Amino acid sequence: MRNEMKLELDALSVNEAFARVVVAAFVTPVNPTLEELADVKTAVSEAVTNAVIHGYDKAQGKVMLRGILQDGLLHIEVEDRGKGIEDVEKAMEPLFTTRPELERSGMGFSFMEAFMDHLEVRSKPGEGTLVIMEKRFQNREQDEE
Ligand code: ATP
Ligand code: MG
Repeated sequence: MRNEMKLELDALSVNEAFARVVVAAFVTPVNPTLEELADVKTAVSEAVTNAVIHGYDKAQGKVMLRGILQDGLLHIEVEDRGKGIEDVEKAMEPLFTTRPELERSGMGFSFMEAFMDHLEVRSKPGEGTLVIMEKRFQNREQDEE
């Protein structure tokens, strides 16, 4: 089975919860465990939250969510055309945040890395940010056609 989806969302914090539900529904055919489900929901909402809060910072914009599910592998991309990241390597360090005043803890990328099997971040200041994540599901045999 191969299934692909694309979704464009307004950069609003209400869409963080929406994106969680969307990705949960998208992976239903591979019969995820509760833990796998929690992992992808958290990773996707962290990425969408980052796009909304850091990428656009209250400005209007769109967040693109793309997913491909094939042979028990989820490939998911979260993209914004916001302000981008100056130093991606530094941004991905645990506890690094540019927004301590918002009570951000700087753990978003660390969670994405821990909960997914693959994390890649491409970003350019002034152009935007693309977060690519992958996760392999273990017990996919049961439901998949
Ligand atoms: P937390 O996720 O724990 O609330 P945080 O968002 O600051 O805190 P990370 O998600 O790890 O922590 O992100 C680290 C830093 O990377 C952010 O503080 C921000 O500077 C930058 N960043 C992350 N995503 C984006 C993005 N989409 N656009 C611009 N900057 C980003
Ligand atoms: Mg974050």
